[in-house]
Amino acid sequence: TIGMLAIDKDGNLAGGCTTSGLAYKMHGRVGDSPIIGSGLFLDNEVGAATATGLGEEVLKTVGSFLIVELMRHGRTPQQACEEAVNRIMKKQIHRKDFQVGFIALNTKGEVGAYSVHGGFSYQIYQNGENKNVSPDFLSK
Ligand code: ASP
Repeated sequence: TIGMLAIDKDGNLAGGCTTSGLAYKMHGRVGDSPIIGSGLFLDNEVGAATATGLGEEVLKTVGSFLIVELMRHGRTPQQACEEAVNRIMKKQIHRKDFQVGFIALNTKGEVGAYSVHGGFSYQIYQNGENKNVSPDFLSK
């Protein structure tokens, strides 16, 4: 998945995501990316979030919506991403070998990101600078 979140000088948010889907997926499968709330969610009064990884797991927790709601209730983007990943993994009894990652942005322009495993990175353009960030992850 490629997910993008943006904020303009007036504090307006925008977001988008696109996916090639999952390797060896079942015919007709719909992942999280086209489902608003799962692969992408945005509320101009709060923030925005987008997901990558095993869409079935993101769908089960409505992950991007969850992150925006957590930010609405006071979590930073980083805390909200960590809570969403933790919530997904708490429900896993049999499988822990999949990747899920989130990025989030709030109306103050603060960003956060977290994933189950390493290898997930994002690019940020802020204050005229482009940076590649490898965020913290759960399985460390
Ligand atoms: N989230 C996508 C899906 O499950 C996979 C990806 O990360 O591209 O369809």
